[in-house]
Amino acid sequence: MIYPWLEPAWTRLLAQRDRLHHALLIHGPAGIGKSAFAAELARSLLCESPLPDGAACGSCSACGWFAQGNHPDFRLLAPAAADEAREGEAGPGDEAPRKATGKGSARPPRDIRIDQVRALERFTGIGGHRGAAKVVLIEPADAMNTAAANALLKTLEEPSGQTRFVLVTDRPDVLPATVRSRCRALGLPLPAPEVAAAWLAADAGVDLAQARAWLAAAGGAPLRARRFADPAQAAIHRLVVETLAGIPETGIAQAADALADIEPATWVGTLQSWVVDLQRVCVGAEPRYFPEQARRLGSLARRTDLAALDRLAVRLDRVARAVDHPLNPRLVIEDALLDVRAALTA
Ligand SMILES: [Zn+2]
Repeated sequence: MIYPWLEPAWTRLLAQRDRLHHALLIHGPAGIGKSAFAAELARSLLCESPLPDGAACGSCSACGWFAQGNHPDFRLLAPAAADEAREGEAGPGDEAPRKATGKGSARPPRDIRIDQVRALERFTGIGGHRGAAKVVLIEPADAMNTAAANALLKTLEEPSGQTRFVLVTDRPDVLPATVRSRCRALGLPLPAPEVAAAWLAADAGVDLAQARAWLAAAGGAPLRARRFADPAQAAIHRLVVETLAGIPETGIAQAADALADIEPATWVGTLQSWVVDLQRVCVGAEPRYFPEQARRLGSLARRTDLAALDRLAVRLDRVARAVDHPLNPRLVIEDALLDVRAALTA
């Protein structure tokens, strides 16, 4: 599906359907619907009787296979689970096509590995089963490790006529320049706040004020904000914010206890937003994510070491990248919270 705020970009893309660059790099902030956009693009490229505007028909056999997750001319490259990795080593060319949606356990592995990319060489080297386009979706493209990215270069450089590559990432800057330069970039934007709020209010069945508060906490990304409609997620978010707001008065061990059972990705993301807001307040700007915490942030800002806070932001960025496999989640939390406290006791 295409979310309403991405429809202008979608219409422009469909208009060029027949002369698309063979490798498209779709990038933009997390939580705006890039995945769904890329899957819809793959579906429309594989469709055997597209609608007049170029969109997938939804009723041909190709559309049917795509919906079932077994189109023979489609490959999804995503971080592989451990058992899939072993299968891949046994016979990468024979791996079953994977579904474009519903992938992922609670903690997906981080890397797309070289054997997964090598398996593509065979896929792209033979003619399509249906004599039409083949599509490779790589998501998130920044999960390719260096060896995988290098292996992909060869395939991107010598595309076999009918293969289309669609790479999706929140962080195009971490892709090797050699990969980026072989793709046509398509940046997708955050929606305008009123568009996002209207969609979220309707989709989650809440009023506009609630929708705006969730959007603020999610940095304006509607699909991230949508998660707060789940009461459990909303409660977790509140707990993380309250815990962070309590530092440095709250003991670190106590705060770490409160967060210990929470998925690290959740509290790291919120902590990052919290640090951004504190940085903003320190330089006299309004908080962006937690406007309701303006007073608390104001009082913290008066005793914040801005340089230490900037260093913390850099460290948190590293933590966020490694968060899928923390060696010891409790230690990661404690370290992060100690850094927060250090920045606040200037
Ligand atoms: Zn179709």
